[in-house]
Amino acid sequence: MNNILVIGACGQLGAELTLRLRELYGDDRVIATDKKEPLEALQNGPFEVLDVMDMSRVKEVLHKYKITEVYHLVALLSATAEASPRFAWELNMNSLVNILDLAKEGHFKRLYWPSSIAVFGPSTPKLNTPQETFMDPNSIYGISKLAGERWCEYYHEKHDVDVRSIRYPGLIGYKSLPGGGTTDYAVDIYHKAKAGLDFECFLKEDTRLPMMYMDDAVRATIELMDAPANRISVRSSYNLSGMSFTPSEIYEEIKKHYPSFQISYRPDERQHIAASWPQSIDDSVARAEWGWEPAYDLQRMTEVILANL
Ligand code: NAD
Repeated sequence: MNNILVIGACGQLGAELTLRLRELYGDDRVIATDKKEPLEALQNGPFEVLDVMDMSRVKEVLHKYKITEVYHLVALLSATAEASPRFAWELNMNSLVNILDLAKEGHFKRLYWPSSIAVFGPSTPKLNTPQETFMDPNSIYGISKLAGERWCEYYHEKHDVDVRSIRYPGLIGYKSLPGGGTTDYAVDIYHKAKAGLDFECFLKEDTRLPMMYMDDAVRATIELMDAPANRISVRSSYNLSGMSFTPSEIYEEIKKHYPSFQISYRPDERQHIAASWPQSIDDSVARAEWGWEPAYDLQRMTEVILANL
C-alpha cells in the first residue's frame, strides 16, 4: 500500500485531488500539507503545516509517515508570477529540484509534478499543439514550467527517478478557488452567474484557450500515477486535452441557465499571456500510452457546476 504526501493541498487542485485520493486509498494514507492552515474540507485526514522550501521539514514528514508517493503541487501561477518573477523562479524551480533530489536519494518512490500549457509560446502551433513542438514561453511561469520539465526528464534518465507529469490546461471546478492564473475567469464567471451578478471578463471575448473540468484533471492525474512504468514514455510532461472555448462561448452556455446574465470585457495584462498560449491541444500520446479520455465538455461541465455551486 502507498502512503501519499500532497504538498500544496490547500490549493485549487490540491484540495480536490487530496479528497479523491483519500476516497480511493483511505483518509489516513493521504497526508495533506500546505504552508497555510488546513482547509475545513481537509480535516478528515492527517494534515501538516509544511513549507516546501524547508527541506529538513520535508524529510521529517516523509519519514514520519513512511511516504512512498509525493504530489508536489506548489507553484506561483501565471498571473501572480509576473508580479514577482524572481520569487516565482526560486519557488517553482528550487522546490522541484529539492524534491527530485529527495526522490533520487530514495526517500520515496514516485513523484507527481504538474506542468502547464504555459510551456508553449508565441511560435508554438496554436491549433492541436503536438506533444513535441517548438516551445518559447514568454511568461516567467511558463519558463519555470518548461525548465521543470527538463529537470524531470533529466532526473529520470540520469538517476532513474520515477517522475510523472501532465501539462494541464486551465482547470475549472466549483469546490475550490483558483490561485492567480490566466484562466481563473472561467471559474469566477460561474460564481457571478450563480450570485445573480454581472461579470467583467479580463480576457477578450474571442480568446480561445484549452480548459479542463477538475474531475477530469484529478482522474487523469491518478490514472497516470497508477499506470505501469512501461506505459510511460514521456518523462517531461504529457499534453492533455479536455475542451477549448472562448469567454463568449462559456457566457452563451451559462445564459442557457440564467437568461438575464450579463458579461462585459475589459482585457488586462493577462490577455498578453493568454495570446501566447495554444487554442487546442493534441493529447494523442497520453491517449495511446495510458488510455486517457476526457469525460466533460463545456455543456456537461456547466450543468454540473451550476447544479452544485
Ligand atoms: P494554487 O495556487 O491554488 O495552490 C498552490 C498551493 O500551494 C496553495 O495552497 C499555497 O498555499 C501552497 N503553497 C505556496 N507556497 C508554498 C510553500 N512554500 N510551501 C507549501 N505550500 C505552499 O495552485 P493550483 O491551481 O492548485 O495549482 C497546482 C499545480 O498545478 C501548480 O503546480 C500549477 O502550476 C499547476 N497547474 C494549475 C493549473 C490551474 O488551472 N489551476 C493549470 C496548469 C497547471
